[in-house]
Amino acid sequence: MPLEVMQVRLVVATRNRGKVREIVDFLPPGVEVLTLADFPHLPPVVEDGKSFLENAVKKAREVAMATGITALADDSGLEVEFLNGAPGIFSARYAGERAKDKENNAKLLRELEGVPWEKRRARFVCVIAVATPEGRVYTARGVCEGFITFEPRGDKGFGYDPLFYVPELDKTFAELEGEEKHKVSHRGKALRTIEPVLKQLFAADNS
Ligand code: IMP
Repeated sequence: MPLEVMQVRLVVATRNRGKVREIVDFLPPGVEVLTLADFPHLPPVVEDGKSFLENAVKKAREVAMATGITALADDSGLEVEFLNGAPGIFSARYAGERAKDKENNAKLLRELEGVPWEKRRARFVCVIAVATPEGRVYTARGVCEGFITFEPRGDKGFGYDPLFYVPELDKTFAELEGEEKHKVSHRGKALRTIEPVLKQLFAADNS
């Protein structure tokens, strides 16, 4: 049974260019990808949910309704064990409302000053939500376990990537090429789980 009337356009419901770059790699070929930058007059979605899931669904739903186009939203963040799960859903604004990646990273290192390696466990969490203008919603979650380094390493990626060390690869996320990060990352896992839904919504021929 087809999930929906065939779609050709998708709005990635974010202004974060790092996220857009990673998400686009997973979209079926032939999909016309738009982002919030293509809708400058849309009011910002207030991220007042209490979980990644609530925020992702809210962003996807509101953008799909406002644009009339199927929307994909990512809500993600870093949970640090020693900090009882902080910064969590507040990862983007850890050091303040309009904080830059560098400021958030500096705050994280300050909060973990003097904390030994074995207590620096952390995980990245990502929830992807896809919402159609008709109101259907699909979600998927991905998690990646690691440690927070003592200093930044690597210059690729975005956000907390230079501070997130993956033991299996002996590298931080910022030392990985895009493809390598996709294989292990929270976002890669969530996007691979939601891929069948995307394929069906955007199938070139699903008759
Ligand atoms: P959101 O827009 O509320 O989902 O913000 C997510 C925030 O979590 C980002 O701004 C980053 O600070 C952080 N984050 C999420 N995923 C990643 C990642 O893959 N690498 C580095 N930081 C990430």
